[in-house]
Amino acid sequence: MSRATAHVDLGAISHNIQALGALAPRSQFMLAVKSNAYGHGLHEVVRTGLDAGVSSFGVLESTAGIELRKAGVDVPLFAWMHGQDTDFAAAAEERIDLGVQTFWQLEAIAASGARVVPRVHLKIDTGLHRGGADQPRWAEFVTEALRLQALGRLEVVAAWSHLSDTSHSADLESTALFGAAVEEAKALGAEFELLHLGASAAVIDLPEAHFDLVRVGIAAYGISPFGDRSAADLGLRPAMRLSAPVLDARHGLASIAVGYGDGIQSDPDAGAYVIIDGFVAPVIEVGVDETVVALPESAGQVGADSVCIVFGDGAHGEATAEQWAVWGETVGDEIVTGLTGRVRRDFSGA
Ligand SMILES: *Cc1c(COP(=O)(O)O)cnc(C)c1O
Repeated sequence: MSRATAHVDLGAISHNIQALGALAPRSQFMLAVKSNAYGHGLHEVVRTGLDAGVSSFGVLESTAGIELRKAGVDVPLFAWMHGQDTDFAAAAEERIDLGVQTFWQLEAIAASGARVVPRVHLKIDTGLHRGGADQPRWAEFVTEALRLQALGRLEVVAAWSHLSDTSHSADLESTALFGAAVEEAKALGAEFELLHLGASAAVIDLPEAHFDLVRVGIAAYGISPFGDRSAADLGLRPAMRLSAPVLDARHGLASIAVGYGDGIQSDPDAGAYVIIDGFVAPVIEVGVDETVVALPESAGQVGADSVCIVFGDGAHGEATAEQWAVWGETVGDEIVTGLTGRVRRDFSGA
């Protein structure tokens, strides 16, 4: 039986990369492809990114980077989330740059026995408190990294951090802290090939945070990083449309073959709707496997060949993932990334 399908328009991703790249013209463009490219399909998105001229990819875990190397991807890759079981030697030997957030990671990388010298990017916590060396221990962290570098155990190539995006002023303050931390590290003898800080929001709104490289995720998929401006406002195109077949329609109700088991919001606000054959159909109840919607009186013959659009770019009157995020009181990232493996992906616009 056919179920929900996520249609990914790779042309939209390509368009968004060009548009965002133009906003940070002096910075390298790293495309963040964590979580299966935010649910859009890792390998297809990486190929699109390469064609669109991105300079590198951010993969979160080194295992995803190793998977890309095995698929023949040759550009720089950056992984920054590591566990006690991370194979740092394998990552270094596949030339994956490693974000380092803690002393134990620094020591484990230095002791990995890799046959090539691991390249590390030192992370300073500039206020997000989601990893990185705390400011009071930053000098000690840098000093230890330089000691290990002198022993030939690793090479320090970059300093980086991540912004909280809670407000423009908070991000600006973090940017200043980052700049100060870099100066402090340089005074200790560090030399950085690259400095990187900004993600989607900073690419659009905070040129001060562009530095040598920007790490861009959500905006490249056509979802606004801001609550008060939509992708359309920003000239970005939503890349994913979610459709589902109609299972049954009678007595003014229809059930469609998508539910929270596919990753859609289980309890959206009262205003939530889908589009069936061009008509707005309010959501009545989301179940694990099916969703019940109300059919307007004006709807024609709704049946097994009817198409239901849950979200997309709005071209057919449907809501966007951003709108679903409002209905679900979450962020657009969760709407697209949360789709489960049960949702089939198909691709166009390559
Ligand atoms: C997810 C992530 C990004 C991309 O952020 P967006 O807001 O999606 O552009 C960049 N850097 C790091 C460290 C991340 O975890």
